[in-house]
Amino acid sequence: MLIDTFGRVATDLRVSLTDRCNLRCTYCMPEEGLQWLARPDLLTDEEIVRLVRIAVTRLGVTEVRFTGGEPLLRPGLTGIVRRVAALEPRPQISLTTNGIGLARTATALKDAGLDRVNVSLDTLRPDVFKTLTRRGRHHDVLAGLSAAAEAGLTPVKVNSVLMPGLNDDEAPDLLAWAVAHDYELRFIEQMPLDAQHGWHRDGMITAGDILASLRTRFELTPEPDEARGSAPAERWLVDGGPHRVGVIASVTRPFCAACDRTRLTADGQIRTCLFATEETDLRAALRAPDTAGEQGDEEIARIWRQAMWGKKAGSGLDDPTFLQPDRPMSAIGG
Ligand code: SAM
Ligand code: SF4
Repeated sequence: MLIDTFGRVATDLRVSLTDRCNLRCTYCMPEEGLQWLARPDLLTDEEIVRLVRIAVTRLGVTEVRFTGGEPLLRPGLTGIVRRVAALEPRPQISLTTNGIGLARTATALKDAGLDRVNVSLDTLRPDVFKTLTRRGRHHDVLAGLSAAAEAGLTPVKVNSVLMPGLNDDEAPDLLAWAVAHDYELRFIEQMPLDAQHGWHRDGMITAGDILASLRTRFELTPEPDEARGSAPAERWLVDGGPHRVGVIASVTRPFCAACDRTRLTADGQIRTCLFATEETDLRAALRAPDTAGEQGDEEIARIWRQAMWGKKAGSGLDDPTFLQPDRPMSAIGG
């Protein structure tokens, strides 16, 4: 198992498939100037599947989420999903995506074994979308969402980040829209993971702000804590249910004590936390001449276990000495 010194067990693996993206969300990427990972440094499809196999068969991982950057930009995505779905024991497989291209690929991904998707959409207004993401692709995201639901990639979850002065007035509209379409909406507090290092605690929209805004139109009833488990989202029933809304309050209500995540970057580095400033290189171990076969698998598993053993108690966000990681969200894999 991937256990740490605080007794937490990581069973949920986040795999970043690329650091590239077709949007430029202001809270994640700059307009231009970001250095892409060099192609030879990226894990191949084969290497990704091998690492996921090791995680599932030797390390107790039961859930795999593909992310990025934009994972739909990875040409081998469907093949990777198919091979991961064939593993024994078969993990739950999900995808976090901006939805662009999903209209074309949702059915093939479902057929390959994808179970669920989270689609990121911060606004219902095409002009605000263009300002927030610096690209006019709002329509493509909506089409991707419908296709995901039609393909049975359910429950379809929608991730929204609210930014002051841009879309912070949209929380109730987003929730009414999500309820009408049977999508499960989750708001994510903006975190200091933008490439430009422009995050300010004073300027962010907090979980408290979001809930106050939602309560102007909806009655929210908290779900019992037992229902939450290690899920990052706190959830509320909307107007008595059955629809729910979630808030992932990584900044103002951190949930590190229940964290069950381990992360793999597109260039083969293990990260114990979104906010970790240290990484463990699995790519070097993968590509070393003596790490083929069973023995190699066990050596890689050992390095992975050791990395997770060193996971820190928390994100350190409240620590006055907090340092934002060098990699932006797009290169970590959110
Ligand atoms: N491109 C895909 C997408 O947007 O869903 C997957 C990668 S993206 C990094 C994953 C999630 O992280 C998205 O829901 C996005 O809104 C969120 N995200 C990115 N930067 C963030 C930040 N600084 N704070 C909070 N959430 C962020
Ligand atoms: Fe791309 Fe996702 Fe980052 Fe937006 S949040 S720039 S869609 S990786």
